[in-house]
Amino acid sequence: MLYRVEGLVIRSTDYGEGNKIVTLLTPDFGKQGIVVRGAKKLKSRYGALAQLFTYGDYSYYKGGTLGTLNSGEIIRSYQELRQGLDGPAYAAYAAELTDRAMDDEAAAYLFHQLLAFQTALAEGKDPQIVVCAYEMKVIAAAGYEPNLDECAGCGRSNVPFRFSPPAGGALCHSCAYRDPGALELGDGAWRLLRIFAGMDMRRLGNISVKENTKKQLRLALRRWMDTHMGLNLKSRGFLDQLEKYGEMLSPDIAAPPSRIKPQPDSDAADDSGEISG
Ligand SMILES: [Zn+2]
Repeated sequence: MLYRVEGLVIRSTDYGEGNKIVTLLTPDFGKQGIVVRGAKKLKSRYGALAQLFTYGDYSYYKGGTLGTLNSGEIIRSYQELRQGLDGPAYAAYAAELTDRAMDDEAAAYLFHQLLAFQTALAEGKDPQIVVCAYEMKVIAAAGYEPNLDECAGCGRSNVPFRFSPPAGGALCHSCAYRDPGALELGDGAWRLLRIFAGMDMRRLGNISVKENTKKQLRLALRRWMDTHMGLNLKSRGFLDQLEKYGEMLSPDIAAPPSRIKPQPDSDAADDSGEISG
């Protein structure tokens, strides 16, 4: 049977002599595995369709588990994401995370979220923020959303919380004994976690976030995923190294001159920015 779908390449592996198998994330059929014959040959018309991050229109024959590409058109190649270090690291991580964490019921939702993630990255939005927002979408789509508004121990709301992955999210100070390793997050990190939980990636605007807040967000989300989802992603090691390296350089040294902004002294002038736009 011949299928025609829009899809995003979330995995691409070599297969036999000169061929590739791609995993497409599609809105209607979940994940689809397709053999692209001759994809590795230099003159292949379909080589670009088999590249990671490509968004395209794919026609393929399928009888069993794997399809075979018949023809295709690139809608957007996301070439920007294959350049430098940040793009490949973050986009490959998001692709692998999606591949490993999603079930087919969430396919349509995650398709649009991942497309918006790749677009935000390609537009040069802060990858550390974009990836945290996307991680929250994957976590929610997989059914592991943390409770951010009520204490997991006693149910109280509107009190200061710590963030406890093993306890299920927010933990008030009276219940903090349940998890001595619970994270102390600043107001900025709590605010962004709540925003990310309720937000569609397509509405993510430009946002400027303090380094310390980014670090807290990253720690909270990664520790949450490690506790509840245990994915052990290959792309994560490289991303962790890249982020650690970025931290070693102070922001003033790391940022090119045009990006240096005065750092606020107090938390009063915390993370500002526009989420929807
Ligand atoms: Zn409590």
